[in-house]
Amino acid sequence: MLNIGLISKAPPKNLIEIWGDFLKEIKGNVTQMTFNTWFLPIKPLELSNSTIKVQLPSQFFWEWIDEHYKSLISKTMQNVLGEQISLTYVISEEVEPKKTEKEIAPQVIENTKPVPPKQEHNAFLNYRYTFDNFIKGENNQLARAAATAISENPGGTSFNPLFLYGGVGLGKTHLMQAIGNKILEKIPDKRVIYLPSDIFTVQFVESIKSDKVNEFSGFYRSMDVLIIDDIQFLIGKEKTQDLFFHIFNTLHQARKQIVLSSDKPPKDLKGLDERLISRFQWGLSADIQSPDLETRIAILKKKSEDYGMLVSDEILEYIANSITSNIRELEGCLIKLLANSSLNSKDINLDLAKRTVKEIATDRKINISIDNITKTVCSALSVDENKLRDKTRKKEIVLARQLAMFFSKELTKSSLKTIGLHFGGRDHSTVIHSCNSIEQMQQEDSSIKTLVENLRSQIELACS
Ligand code: ADP
Ligand code: MG
Repeated sequence: MLNIGLISKAPPKNLIEIWGDFLKEIKGNVTQMTFNTWFLPIKPLELSNSTIKVQLPSQFFWEWIDEHYKSLISKTMQNVLGEQISLTYVISEEVEPKKTEKEIAPQVIENTKPVPPKQEHNAFLNYRYTFDNFIKGENNQLARAAATAISENPGGTSFNPLFLYGGVGLGKTHLMQAIGNKILEKIPDKRVIYLPSDIFTVQFVESIKSDKVNEFSGFYRSMDVLIIDDIQFLIGKEKTQDLFFHIFNTLHQARKQIVLSSDKPPKDLKGLDERLISRFQWGLSADIQSPDLETRIAILKKKSEDYGMLVSDEILEYIANSITSNIRELEGCLIKLLANSSLNSKDINLDLAKRTVKEIATDRKINISIDNITKTVCSALSVDENKLRDKTRKKEIVLARQLAMFFSKELTKSSLKTIGLHFGGRDHSTVIHSCNSIEQMQQEDSSIKTLVENLRSQIELACS
């Protein structure tokens, strides 16, 4: 129990008001991620005497917030209520499992072991990510088909693990969450959990500190469906990789479903334990690419309808032609357009759309530097950065240099001269030549086009 003490000052408020004030203040003190992960799932149940009873998704959850946010919670309660308040908690199921035919049918129970608890932990799934609102496109065909298949039959297909990869903002997280949501919708008592790999690492480190590694590992080993996003962030975290390796093996042997995502295919995850890379290749790796024009238009149409916006086809096509590599940015553009139109009390017309697209391009350029671009390109192509400044004409180095120049021109505000100087003092005409040849290669070779699109996403990710 958390005891939060102070003398009473404020007039009485009802529970919902108090909780609203409490969350508002917490929100100003923690990151969005912390807020969504640890505070939004808390449900206030009742206020009696000087106690607030809340419902939490799991014991682990309670211990985590008690350890990390106890003083913040106390302080905030104090500010909000100004009186002696204690918080008690109950652990409870998030969702009442729906009765399925199978459950209603009589079952033969052969042993007297207690039945494992149903979904008593927070699966960290966002209900807004579904298959229904995931637009089909050639760019995501395989990934979507495999995701659908495993959500129908988790652990029962050869797609185990399902490994989704691709650039930023292309729908990996959406698809992974859709898998989790679908499985829980069909079978509410499946133990499903979604989390980004960096949260997994943080939890692991915490469990070491509090001497609870076995509990931590046991929790994940008890899952029916383990969904870990952005697995590339395990690179360089040897201990976490090691533990994850064992969890992976336990789950895989028990035919539990594993779903992973990354910005690159398994074989390119340099610095990750080889044993993991080879396991990641046991199932199916499916990439998601940048959406083509039709898919981008379809996504914009759907999203604008969802937002209740009236946008002409001409405008949707304009946006789809201007923002090409990232669906998150497409979405961002619509939201910005909506904001611009209501802030200035203007209709959404082509002019406003053009201005909005321009603003987005400017926002994007602010953080991107030639150095960042060079780093990302060289690491993606496994080329030594220093070689880009040399005179060498080795094929892969020339390609890396041309790509870096191309992106420097596209994504930064640097002049051709400045760009040339960054690459061993080359002339501005060399920069122009490089840009032209990348443009041409993209037209002639679709694999270069994909490479360019993926790199652009990676650069934007690295600089965001
Ligand atoms: P990633 O994890 O690959 O970086 P996300 O899954 O976060 O990308 O997707 C970014 C945004 O784009 C999300 O809001 C997501 O809902 C949306 N999105 C991505 N792909 C699609 C799609 N095919 N249909 C509808 N929305 C999509
Ligand atoms: Mg993601």
